Amino acid sequence: MEVLERVRYFIWRLRYGRLPTNKACHRWGHGAPYCGHCVGVEESIIHVLRDCPLAHDVWNHLLPMQTRLGFFTCHYHSWFQHNMLNYEKLEGGNEWRVVWAVTCYHLWLWRNKENFDYEFVRPRIY
Ligand SMILES: [Zn+2]
Repeated sequence: MEVLERVRYFIWRLRYGRLPTNKACHRWGHGAPYCGHCVGVEESIIHVLRDCPLAHDVWNHLLPMQTRLGFFTCHYHSWFQHNMLNYEKLEGGNEWRVVWAVTCYHLWLWRNKENFDYEFVRPRIY
């Protein structure tokens, strides 16, 4: 996959479920397991990257209507595999799997910036 090395490394971490989400940190004895945006919802990887309304809005701008149901309802490992194996080219010539990987990378980056840089404002998509 033709992406920056930091995106490639991020995808490797995703493949093995190695992101320090609040849920993971809580399991390791640090902090509460909840999403910083949603009330009472645990922050798992799939929550940060797909199910959180902040991520949902981004995906809704990228996904054709007919693919949304499958995209938003499968389990994490199916979601990862299905997107990583999707070589379909989009307008502009990028493969879906590249768009997916770079989008996931940015969703995680923005989540971290929001948590650690109080001046950061997540880009808005309208
Ligand atoms: Zn959330």
